[in-house]
Amino acid sequence: MSESKIVAQELADLDKKHFLHPTSSIQQQQEQGPGFIFTKGEGVYLEDVSGKKVIDGMSSLWNVNIGHGRKELGQAAMEQMNKLAFSSCFATFSNEPAIRLAAKLAEITPGNLNSTFFTSGGSEANDTAYKLARHYWILKGRPEKKKIISRKRSYHGVAMGATSATGLKPFRDFTNSLAPDFYYVDNLSAQSLREMVETEGPESIAAFVAEPVQGAGGVHIAPENYFKEVRKVCDDYDILFITDEVITGFGRTGKTFGIEHYGVVPDMMCFAKGVTSGYAQLGGVVLSESMFDDFKERSVGTLLHGYTYSGHPMACAVALKNIEIIENENLIENAKNMGEELLKGFKWIQGERKLVGEVRGLGLMGAVEIKSNKGPLSPIIVNEAAKQGLICRSVVFDDMDTLVFSPPLTINKQEIESLINILHDSIYAIEQKFL
Ligand code: PMP
Repeated sequence: MSESKIVAQELADLDKKHFLHPTSSIQQQQEQGPGFIFTKGEGVYLEDVSGKKVIDGMSSLWNVNIGHGRKELGQAAMEQMNKLAFSSCFATFSNEPAIRLAAKLAEITPGNLNSTFFTSGGSEANDTAYKLARHYWILKGRPEKKKIISRKRSYHGVAMGATSATGLKPFRDFTNSLAPDFYYVDNLSAQSLREMVETEGPESIAAFVAEPVQGAGGVHIAPENYFKEVRKVCDDYDILFITDEVITGFGRTGKTFGIEHYGVVPDMMCFAKGVTSGYAQLGGVVLSESMFDDFKERSVGTLLHGYTYSGHPMACAVALKNIEIIENENLIENAKNMGEELLKGFKWIQGERKLVGEVRGLGLMGAVEIKSNKGPLSPIIVNEAAKQGLICRSVVFDDMDTLVFSPPLTINKQEIESLINILHDSIYAIEQKFL
């Protein structure tokens, strides 16, 4: 056996024995071992321990927006770590990268979203937004406003609040006791929200949370007027509107933030993932100026909410460099243009292959539905695509049988063509077996 095969085997054995993988099938891990042990990344490509190269059609977890292998981010992390790796942001302590990033976020987020609370990721961002919403109503003298409404098919993370808000029921069923006061409405109907508010009583509702484009739940894009109507329901009934931009932020949909497609501004915006393109662990919540003014005016004593890594200097330095790259390289414009190419490609496959149903996309978030009477086939297509050199994801919740995509924003036309060709050939291979 070659040296690299010996290492690969050793790693696979250790993986099975010692590594409980997140969001994974333990049975599959034990039977098959790791599918890929990645060792390198360059642009839209990942390479594994055996030297196999694949297109990262998901930007890993919808997050590597600027692509793999960008040395500038390593440099920014190293410089900050060498200068000041960590110091606290509790109480009145602060640091330069956190301050500058908060100011940058105020500049690039829409409307009067102006102050940021930092977390280490998206789940913490969601829990923070729900707790800040409830705390806000306590400060406003309306402590009975505590219910959080989210949407069916939504994904908000796996912390206790985020799990409780997640509309994909299997994530909630994983545990047997959730956080109280969470409710779910139909995902693309503002009327469903209005009805829920009227049934439950607006005096009991703190906030409504929504992803501008639902990601993990299958890339569902809201109709044009949906968020305007949502904003109106929230305004009519004094309900805070939170957008979860953990996937849709930082250029993913062809605008800086997904909600900009809909011309409304939320009261709070959760972000993570693309803020650092995954090069460091960072998330947060941006609050509207008017909310922050209310906090300033009414808050007494200590704001008893904070993570050790809130405002982590290294993570914030990486985020600043990442946002600079997104801006300097016009990656948002590229996401828009390449998103159109991706959707064109999906439509071509739809014309060629019987297994393909609806296709959709906004910027570089895309979905291809699979229609068959042979049970869900998207997981098998994902395996075939991986063999042929493309990473994508299957969504099989709620009777969906859908492939989803979110390649790096740096992707070019040729790489889109390769992605589309591999996808086509993978679907063709499965058609040969099942049709
Ligand atoms: N919100 C959304 C919309 C997400 O897609 C995710 C992660 N996929 C999260 C929250 C949770 O983020 P994290 O995994 O960083 O906790």
